[in-house]
Amino acid sequence: METGRELCVVGRTERATAIGLALASVGLPWRAVSPEVALGRPGVVVGSPALIWAFPPGRHPTLETQGYASGTCAVYAHWSGTVAEVGPVLVRGSGPCVACLFASAASNGRGGHPALRSWVAAWAALQCEALLRTGSSELIGASWRWRLNRPGLDLVRWRALPGCGARDCQP
Ligand SMILES: [Zn+2]
Repeated sequence: METGRELCVVGRTERATAIGLALASVGLPWRAVSPEVALGRPGVVVGSPALIWAFPPGRHPTLETQGYASGTCAVYAHWSGTVAEVGPVLVRGSGPCVACLFASAASNGRGGHPALRSWVAAWAALQCEALLRTGSSELIGASWRWRLNRPGLDLVRWRALPGCGARDCQP
């Protein structure tokens, strides 16, 4: 199989597969990579048009920092038993840097609700399709969040920390 053109979905197999099947439904080729494989062989994600991190910011900081440093844009897409979130889109030089995301991320709890899985997969796929087609995203420095106990779409803003000072970090 040709590699490099596929979107790399990095995460546990069942999570990466749920997102990957949604990517396929909008015509995007994909492959799943476990965090352990991506950490052990950094080249495995090189050349992907975009990375999808199927976990919250800061879950695999070394990996996320490597991806950020490579200049490849990354889309966070994850869910728990109660909360689902798509975004932010991490692009070096636009929006807050990876370290600022780590500092701002909150734990979204454990488990996985099947409806939240479907929601994340579909919205992440649509976001990736638009991102690759248009080259822009409204999720730079922002994410969409859905909570089961407070239904409705929240647009969450992610900001650079005061005094971050990283060269590519934008407030
Ligand atoms: Zn920063």
